[in-house]
Amino acid sequence: MITNFLTKIGRRFFVGQKQKFVFLKAKDIEFFSLKKIDLYIHIPFCKNMCPYCPYNRIAYNKELVQPYLNGILNEIDFYHKKLGKIEIPSIYIGGGTPTNLIDELQIIINSLREKFFVSGDICIETSPADLDEEIIKKLKKMGVDSISIGVQSFNDEYLKILGRKYDSKQAEKAIRAALSVGFKSVNIDLMFVLPNQDSKNVLADLDKAINLKVDQITTYPLFTFPYTSVGQHLKLNKIKMPNFFRRRKMYKEIYNYCAKKNYRQVSVWGFKKGEVPRYSSVTRDNYIGIGAGACSRLPNIFYFNTFSVKDYISSTLNKKSPIASAMEISSQLGKYYWLYWRFYDAKISKNELEKIFGRKDFKFIFLFLFLKIFRLCRETKESIILTERGSFYIHLLQNYFILNYINKVWTIARKEAWPEKIEI
Ligand code: SF4
Repeated sequence: MITNFLTKIGRRFFVGQKQKFVFLKAKDIEFFSLKKIDLYIHIPFCKNMCPYCPYNRIAYNKELVQPYLNGILNEIDFYHKKLGKIEIPSIYIGGGTPTNLIDELQIIINSLREKFFVSGDICIETSPADLDEEIIKKLKKMGVDSISIGVQSFNDEYLKILGRKYDSKQAEKAIRAALSVGFKSVNIDLMFVLPNQDSKNVLADLDKAINLKVDQITTYPLFTFPYTSVGQHLKLNKIKMPNFFRRRKMYKEIYNYCAKKNYRQVSVWGFKKGEVPRYSSVTRDNYIGIGAGACSRLPNIFYFNTFSVKDYISSTLNKKSPIASAMEISSQLGKYYWLYWRFYDAKISKNELEKIFGRKDFKFIFLFLFLKIFRLCRETKESIILTERGSFYIHLLQNYFILNYINKVWTIARKEAWPEKIEI
């Protein structure tokens, strides 16, 4: 109740009344002439259906692979016709488990290179159970620059709780193999805030990752989306998740431990060593998502494709648009969207800030004062940097945002292939 009330007040104050927080059935999207755009490709097939997983994924089905690939190629073609051969500064391939379609990925990348000018890095995510030396060689050969491995934990007990179908030895083997072929960056995901987990377990996982010399570690909390079986299981069995104070302590220890081991903070959840490029999936300003359930953001609009893999295939194969729902973005919301992701980066360039907000935006000045008074950020000549405390609260805010808004959109989009209206 109180959080809903505060959200309403916050939205009115910062974004204004003009902005409607509603996704509606998509009509024709207007594509302005863009010079460049980042790309996201969604591959929804998984060989293991993890019970906590909130993403748009389906069990691997060989018969659907070729039609899905054709759908993706048609969608690439659609954007090529709309936008021309524009620059693609980065490609992110997520899922699902993209490496389950390893040979098809080569065809997708070839098509992107033929239809667009791909100027930047190609990043891909995968799981230790779906990564071996042969797959790694193929990824390297097709020009993948960075890889993220969803290890989640090196503790076999937690891997079992999470329903992952590999053990810590297999995870280590996959990491070593990925590190040996010279990707620009190897990131691993580790989870914290697991049921009954304490700081000792979390630090043991971090220690293992650091000893393996991975380039980047992304530590993120277990999100118990109510519609996942883990969300329901925890509720039914009244399993206790670490409370606020344990979560606070864990975050502080992760932050300090990474700093001690020379892993520099690159986002509220990410820490990297040395000068390797930062691996990141979500912080791009404008991007187009291709595939079932893929989300896109253009300067004036958010939209997403139908989550139903079957509907995605039938619409793209019939040369119809797979776009299901869209929400217009006012310029004011666009500014705060940008700021949200810079907070996620834990660092905001003052120059960029001034370009976007100007010098006299009193709402931003108010926000900044608030952050300073509560020691949530500090200032240098060029930047505003979140403190450890600030990073923790942004992490909580993201948790709130994901479990309230994203959960709401995804719950409906997973049930209805073409939703009429989603109010958030
Ligand atoms: S492998 Fe990843 S995408 Fe697939 S079910 Fe598990 S968590 Fe979800």
